[in-house]
Amino acid sequence: MAVLSVHTSPLAQPGTGDAGGMNVYVLQSALQLARRGVEVEIFTRATSSADAPVVEAAPGVLVRNVVAGPFEGLDKHDLPTQLCAFTAGVLREEAHHEPGYYDLVHSHYWLSGQVGWLARDRWGVPLVHTAHTLAAVKNAALADGDVPEPAARQIGEQQVVAEADRLITNTADESRQLVDIYGADPRRIDVVAPGADLTRYRPGDKAAARAELGLNPNELIVTFVGRIQPLKAPDVLLRAAAALVEREPALPLRIVIVGGPSGTGLDRPDSLIDLAASLGITARVTFLPPQPPERLAQVYRAADLVAVPSYSESFGLVAIEAQACGTPVVAADVGGLGVAVRSGETGLLVPGHRTDDWADALHSLLADPGRLAEMALRAPLHAEDFSWEHTADGLLESYKRANASFRRLPEHTPRRGRGLWKLRRMGGVRT
Ligand code: UDP
Repeated sequence: MAVLSVHTSPLAQPGTGDAGGMNVYVLQSALQLARRGVEVEIFTRATSSADAPVVEAAPGVLVRNVVAGPFEGLDKHDLPTQLCAFTAGVLREEAHHEPGYYDLVHSHYWLSGQVGWLARDRWGVPLVHTAHTLAAVKNAALADGDVPEPAARQIGEQQVVAEADRLITNTADESRQLVDIYGADPRRIDVVAPGADLTRYRPGDKAAARAELGLNPNELIVTFVGRIQPLKAPDVLLRAAAALVEREPALPLRIVIVGGPSGTGLDRPDSLIDLAASLGITARVTFLPPQPPERLAQVYRAADLVAVPSYSESFGLVAIEAQACGTPVVAADVGGLGVAVRSGETGLLVPGHRTDDWADALHSLLADPGRLAEMALRAPLHAEDFSWEHTADGLLESYKRANASFRRLPEHTPRRGRGLWKLRRMGGVRT
């Protein structure tokens, strides 16, 4: 199958720039599909002259770096200008093979959906699409300082929703949004929850994790992990921490912020450091750069709580990974976080983003070690429901449905020469 991931490479370090949960999703689902015998080729845009045209990520998983526009300096919002170049790269690659080389196209994010729609028509194979985020939903929950998604994106999303043979969502809520806002046909939607790598993210020794990261064994640690941008709301956590410390100056509270700037956060990459200073809590905040998964597991284990205060979140992989490591999560009650966290059992869901509400929620758990310990025991059990193996099973079901219902229409025009190739394969034509 061909997997399209135009704007983020599955090989990029997540947690900074445009690389986040979608990269992890594309790579982990491909690895699981390959284990089930599906050969996966992932097309992404080359962003460095050092990118080899093809990289084998694992047996059965190829990453094809398509040259479309300059390697560096292109913002995600510039990428629609490069979609033709990217599509040409994808179609040319397919043209090197026998017709029928790909059985299915799965596109991730609307930019890839635009490419997938054309590939589907040219190759005469089904298109399965995952939006990951939706402009209309994002715009309805903008953070201060966030730039709204352009109307053109919503138009592009609408087209892909209309064209895709099947749509995959993370949650039932997201399915409803596709139906209500984008007019999707509910019969073409499959809900497939994303997962976490449960072999890597599992409970471990907190003291050892703190020692490895140079964190104090006696402090109460609340950690934020993710791209630093207004939508992810790390500022909500800092403000809540300042309020807590003001109420209880002796509280040995430490906030750990892990990740790099991204999107609108890039305008002021140091803004969180400035905010901590203006709140008077600089000495209580530790900033760590984006971490590779092995180390991230230790970051989660080292924390007493992980906070996910996002304004909008289609799922929230960080919440699952943290719970898989035995760390309860305090999350905003938005999007998929309502599925990812069992409020009152494996963490708490906080309605809204008011500083006092967040300070109260954090305090209610930090001040009650017994409750926190119970949640820490329950969290990995809940996380077990979310594995990439489950995700791959759900994807395969969706692919089967896409294949079963796919009818080649006149507008699907596989390139000519199909018969010739067939004859050649059968030894009927000498070249
Ligand atoms: N991540 C990482 N290193 C970091 C920060 C984040 O590998 O330093 C990964 C994290 O493990 C998770 C993903 O980035 O899998 C973030 O996914 P999430 O769904 O939480 O947010 P998104 O980036 O999709 O908005």
